[in-house]
Amino acid sequence: MPAQRRSGTSCAAAWQRWSGVRPGYAGARVSPYAKAPSWQAAPASPVWTSGHPLADPAISSALKERADQIQSAFAAIEPTLRALAPRQFEDNFAAAARESLRERLGLSVPLELLTVSWAVPLDVRRLYAHCVLATFCRLIERHLDRDLACSFEGESAEALIQRFGFHAVDITPCADGRLSGVIDYILRVPPAVVAFRKSFAGAMFDVDESLHHWETVQLRRFREARPNAATAPTRFLKIGVYHFSSVDPHREGCAAHQSDDARAAAALLERLRQFEEAVQLTHGGEARVATLLVGVDTDTDAIRIHVPDAAGQMSIERFIDSRQLYDRTQGLTRDEGKQVIREQVADLMGVAIDDAPTEGMRWFCGYLLKNNLAQVDAVRRWHGSSYADRGHTEQLMVIGDSVDDVQLRNLAFQAQMDTIEEGAPDLDVGVRILRSLHESRGLAVPVLVHIRFDPRIPGARERAEVRAVRLRTAIETRFAALSADGGLRVEAVVRSGDSDELHAVEAAPERRPEPAAGLHA
Ligand SMILES: [Zn+2]
Repeated sequence: MPAQRRSGTSCAAAWQRWSGVRPGYAGARVSPYAKAPSWQAAPASPVWTSGHPLADPAISSALKERADQIQSAFAAIEPTLRALAPRQFEDNFAAAARESLRERLGLSVPLELLTVSWAVPLDVRRLYAHCVLATFCRLIERHLDRDLACSFEGESAEALIQRFGFHAVDITPCADGRLSGVIDYILRVPPAVVAFRKSFAGAMFDVDESLHHWETVQLRRFREARPNAATAPTRFLKIGVYHFSSVDPHREGCAAHQSDDARAAAALLERLRQFEEAVQLTHGGEARVATLLVGVDTDTDAIRIHVPDAAGQMSIERFIDSRQLYDRTQGLTRDEGKQVIREQVADLMGVAIDDAPTEGMRWFCGYLLKNNLAQVDAVRRWHGSSYADRGHTEQLMVIGDSVDDVQLRNLAFQAQMDTIEEGAPDLDVGVRILRSLHESRGLAVPVLVHIRFDPRIPGARERAEVRAVRLRTAIETRFAALSADGGLRVEAVVRSGDSDELHAVEAAPERRPEPAAGLHA
């Protein structure tokens, strides 16, 4: 597989973008999902003026507004379909329903999903799943503003991160939907610095693939001096994100690790160590990467940062808990709060507060903690002591290449994979979770196969389409009974590089539905 395509299958940092345009920008729209926006924008959340000294009300309010818009887009689906279903045997139903869906949900639904006869009624499960998937695609194409956290203390976060010693950040969270907002909400890291983000059940990333990510970044540094020259003394930073539940630790933790947070942290730490070792063993002792283990409390969005010691070693027992830090800094001034963070990080690292060799990592830990305090503050303000939905409420699953454009807690279970064989354990966890959520409501599990291609490479789109069809077929085969019963609905799209241009991949010829001619329309 060509290196470029693999590197591009993840969220692309600013210096990696194929098209050289801002993420989300697209020229002529060709997607069936890209219709005129129609849902009502949620009213802007009020910006508060008081709170924690390190809160960031402006960013938090903008993030809340975005979350409300995403939620209202999905929330509109069920009432719209409930209103349509009883009218299905009326004359001219398909055309009227299509118009109604366009007006209320902003979706262009294929007529075949709306065409019924007295003997073959509306397949509401299929229609609902399609609307969920199409809404998600529309949100991608809508290009939500993800630049909210691009500045830190008045400076470019991207420039600061590089100045403090890191030229690229690779984030691997668990595929659990409660981490769907890990970049924008929980860590508040600007997409411009995130070179890769791939999710796996239990955050159990593939070491060889991560090594390959590191190599592609190095190659670009050597050849193009982007994001900086290979001679610059900066490092590639890989962050592994596990999760736990502070409210219901034995039931709502990581399913892939049987809700055992120590086990989740230990397994991920071991994998991070293997990655560091892999880089050194394959590219020599001079090749250095940095790693960081982070835990997320899915009830409060607070984080644990496992601060490395001066030698870069981490321990699952040694961490700073941002919930405790929040309480400790609550009554301080902003400067005093920042000083407490600096002291705690240096203390845990076992170095002086002005220790030069560890300055970069100390700054980065403080940066994440400060960002997260703002999120902890926002959650407390809008959800109280913890989220009401402690467990899963994901709308859909995303399989294949990652989607970061639409970030929101509990929105999507994402599992990145090239083949079903490779991603089977993740897929099984995801289907089990989504099935328990949807089956009880009589609904099908919506699965989006999302594959990116590099538009510069001849034939890349065709190969991406083949891969998408292969994944879709493999999922339907793996869950044949569920699929045949209408309990699983898989749709596939391919995407041109980092643009928000999605192309629906039609069913393979033998699976295409018969023409609707002759049916009541
Ligand atoms: Zn998990």
